[in-house]
Amino acid sequence: MSAATVTACIGLGSNLDDPLLQVKRAVDALAAHEAIRVTACSSLYASAPMGPQDQPDYINAVAVVETPLPALSLLDALQAQEAAQARRRGRRWGPRTLDLDLLLYGDDTIRTARLQVPHPGLHLRAFVLYPLAELDPGRRVPGLGRVQELLAACSDDGVRRLCDHENEWNGAS
Ligand code: ATP
Ligand code: CA
Ligand code: CA
Repeated sequence: MSAATVTACIGLGSNLDDPLLQVKRAVDALAAHEAIRVTACSSLYASAPMGPQDQPDYINAVAVVETPLPALSLLDALQAQEAAQARRRGRRWGPRTLDLDLLLYGDDTIRTARLQVPHPGLHLRAFVLYPLAELDPGRRVPGLGRVQELLAACSDDGVRRLCDHENEWNGAS
C-alpha cells in the first residue's frame, strides 16, 4: 500500500440476521480490501436501538483502518459492503444487517451532501464512543475535543461490552 495513507475510523452496527456474524464478516471484508488495512478492532458492544424502538438491540464495534483511498472512495467501499451484506434502506434508523459509518478520516473535516466527517452523531453516541475510546482515547475529533472527553460527557445509554476481540470476537461466527 502507498506510503500516503490516512488513518480512518469506521463504526460498525448490525441488528438483523445474526448481528455478531454480520459485524465479523464486515471486518473481514474490510481487511480483505486491497486498499484498506485494518490495524485495530474494538470489543463488541450491545446497545439499545436509536429511533424506532420496535427493533432488536444492536451489536456495535469500531475498526481503525489505514488507507490511501480518498474519503469518498472509502465511503463507496463501505456502502458496497453494506450492499454485499444485503443492507436494505427503509425508515430512518430502522433495523439493518449492516451499517458502516465513516467516523473519522485523518484530521479532516468534510461537510458535503454525501459525506460528513467527523460523523455528526459520533460525540452523542455511547455505542460509538466506548469502542472508539478503547482503541484511541486520546484521538482528537476535529472541532469537538478528544475521544475520552467526549465519552465522559456522554450518557452511557446502557451500552454493554460483550466480548474481547481477541477471544470470543474471533469465535463470534
Ligand atoms: P446516521 O448517519 O445518523 O448514523 P444511518 O447510519 O442510519 O444514520 P444511513 O441510511 O446509513 O444513515 O446513511 C444515509 C447517508 O448518510 C448515506 O447515504 C451517506 O451518503 C450519508 N453520510 C454522510 N456522512 C456519512 C458518514 N460519515 N458515514 C457514512 N455515511 C454518511
Ligand atoms: Ca449509523
Ligand atoms: Ca450509515
